Amino acid sequence: MSSSIIDLRSDTGTRPTAAMRAAMLEAAVGDDVFGEDPTVNALEARMAALFGHEAAVFCPSGTMTNQIAVNLHTRPGDEVICDEGAHIYRYEGGGVMATSGCSVRLIQGDHGRFTSAQVEACLNDPKATWLPRTRLVNIENTCNRGGGAVWDLGAVDAIRQVCDAHGLRLHMDGARIFNALVVTGDGPAEWGRRFHTISVCLSKGLGAPVGSVLVGSMEHITEARRVRKRLGGGMRQAGMLAAACLYALDEHIDRLALDHQRAQRLAEALMAQPYIASIMPVTTNIIILTLAGHRTASSFLEQLRSQGIIAAAFGPQMVRMVTHLDVDDAAIDRTIHILDQLA
Ligand SMILES: *Cc1c(COP(=O)(O)O)cnc(C)c1O
Repeated sequence: MSSSIIDLRSDTGTRPTAAMRAAMLEAAVGDDVFGEDPTVNALEARMAALFGHEAAVFCPSGTMTNQIAVNLHTRPGDEVICDEGAHIYRYEGGGVMATSGCSVRLIQGDHGRFTSAQVEACLNDPKATWLPRTRLVNIENTCNRGGGAVWDLGAVDAIRQVCDAHGLRLHMDGARIFNALVVTGDGPAEWGRRFHTISVCLSKGLGAPVGSVLVGSMEHITEARRVRKRLGGGMRQAGMLAAACLYALDEHIDRLALDHQRAQRLAEALMAQPYIASIMPVTTNIIILTLAGHRTASSFLEQLRSQGIIAAAFGPQMVRMVTHLDVDDAAIDRTIHILDQLA
């Protein structure tokens, strides 16, 4: 793709910088299936410590870390509670059902966030043998389909109490947890200790080419390694990828605030356009807008594309734009200039 194209489809679109590539080239490597890759081991140890848990396992994608977590915590026939827009339900190829044999109980949250009362309302009576056994609650932070909305710790604590009272596990799909932490100022361990497992993507806003990590107890992560292998995710000299992730942790966390400022600026410009009906509240790097009148997402995206800007359809009249490492101030300026001309 030409570098003059502004790609706002997703923060997965980031390409490794020259310095990140240099770190990858220099990585010490070994066979990670045997636990012998020193760079993977360093990444796993660092992520576990960062989130206040005993262990972590490096995986090729966030879909895999989430699906391993679902598999660890459940047995076939169990039920998983999540928001109706949850990535684990919508965008992971039906893995909750196909890989773990679980049903899904959907909550209509507030931009992806829900309350402990909503969780309680979904609990099946364990004595009712005709109902699936409620087993796992999934919290997504930030919420992709909620326009990048951020959870607060109080809401998580209340949900964890319900989980503890009913023997449920609590997983966080933290694909964009660092975006959330940059906004709230909370430490990763404050978040980490509230969950049984946490999935974190290094290949989104943090800019690594590949890689997600699942964090949890030694017991959970030991079993996670078996599930990872079963799913085909056991990698060999993966240290070159882990080196990119370590580099991203060093260099690309603080700058997420810049992505958020750019998303704000873009959202303000979008809000001023007569062809836009509404925009979800923007707090991180995701903008989800709804077009006015009869404008369709496909015609709007076509107009943008003809001007060298690509965004993603999120519904018949909904469009998502995401800022990231490869979208600088000049790209935002150019996008705003083009949006003004579409009016
Ligand atoms: C991107 C994303 C994932 C993981 O996606 P992969 O492409 O499989 O790495 C998981 N959850 C959310 C909320 C995401 O946005």
